[in-house]
Amino acid sequence: AVMVGRRVKSRRRWWRVVRAVDEFEEAAATPVGRLRQVVDAMAVEMHAGLASEGGSKLKMLLTYVDNLPDGSENGIYYALHVGGTNFRILRIQLGGQRSIIEHDVERKPIPQLLMTSTSEEFFDFIASSLKEFVETKGNGLQLAEVRRKDLGFTFSFPVKQTSVSSGTLIKWTKGFAIEDMVEKDVVECLEKALSRRGLDMNVAALVNDSVGTLAVGHFIDNDTVAAVVIGTGTNACYLERADAVIKCQGLLTTSGGVVINMEWGNFWSSHLPRTSYDIELDSESQNPNDQGFEKMISGLYLGDIVRRVICRLCIESDIFGSLSSKLSTRFVLRRAARLAAAGIVGILKKIGRDGTGGIAGGRIKGYKSGKMRRSVVAVEGGLYTSYTIFREYLNNAVAEILGEEIAPYVILKMMEDGSGIGTAMLAASNSARSVDTVQ
Ligand code: BGC
Repeated sequence: AVMVGRRVKSRRRWWRVVRAVDEFEEAAATPVGRLRQVVDAMAVEMHAGLASEGGSKLKMLLTYVDNLPDGSENGIYYALHVGGTNFRILRIQLGGQRSIIEHDVERKPIPQLLMTSTSEEFFDFIASSLKEFVETKGNGLQLAEVRRKDLGFTFSFPVKQTSVSSGTLIKWTKGFAIEDMVEKDVVECLEKALSRRGLDMNVAALVNDSVGTLAVGHFIDNDTVAAVVIGTGTNACYLERADAVIKCQGLLTTSGGVVINMEWGNFWSSHLPRTSYDIELDSESQNPNDQGFEKMISGLYLGDIVRRVICRLCIESDIFGSLSSKLSTRFVLRRAARLAAAGIVGILKKIGRDGTGGIAGGRIKGYKSGKMRRSVVAVEGGLYTSYTIFREYLNNAVAEILGEEIAPYVILKMMEDGSGIGTAMLAASNSARSVDTVQ
């Protein structure tokens, strides 16, 4: 009787576990029909975010970048990249004709303590690291000679730009919480720290990492229309017509276009496959009700969703060991890659590059006569560049959503370290000085 009792108990536990796994799989499922609903919701929210300030959870921020690098840039430029797990400093030498003559990068982990310290401590750390880098990598030049170099600053957080080289921090994401920085001008804080360290560098461009990625993508391939970052956090930007930015009436740009930083990490739609684990993760996070899409996609959160699923299974059962086959199914990673894919197609839809003619529907003119335009999307961030399966899931999902007629016209290009290089390129195109004085 004891043996039978044990067997019944263990079978019950097993069923509870199987049920928990099945429930999760069902709630997290991303069949193509659901992804298409996410595509539509993304395109609709993009319109709403462009129509009025606060019109959508998508901030659709104006970047003031209206000309993307075209390969003719020339000179030595530095870039600072702040925003993820690592802090990066770059020095690149551009030689015109789409050539990068030299490219030096230094990566440093950002000490955890600094992520929640004061703006002064944070920027002093960055300025000291930059000074060290400039002194050692300055090609034998003395500090005095490398003064007044143009610097591109990649700051991978939501910023309300006031020009291409200035802007205030709207809020922190990704576990950063330096409270006195919010609403402060980011470039002013950096420049003050640089001068405290005796470095008189000029910040020629303040750029979100997605915008840096778009810039390098465009430098390499003129058909690049959008860029996506999928790393610690996630975001996307794209080239929009200036007259479509209704909330900035009368916006005039030399090219007629302007780059919009979507801040898609904050996108939300009832069509997203939200599970009880996502709800728990959100309510226990530093920023509840914020960055909902990011919490389903990016590297900072994926591991924690898995941890929560495993914890639940451990509570349900002590037979965890025999679950390895269930746990090895795609779960979270599948879902994240496919949602990001839906986001990308949403952008293509908004700009009429998905073969349906935008949200108004109907095939775009010329498509039938074979004139569908090639669209390149630059993608960077560790989840995409270093995780082959994630990349495959994402690429396949984009093709699945678009269908086989349209998919060949959409090319996803991987950009390693792209945002830093792109930011340095934007510093080059926005530099006030001529090439000779920069070198
Ligand atoms: C930030 C974005 C950034 C993205 C990727 C998000 O948390 O809000 O500004 O581009 O992470 O780094």
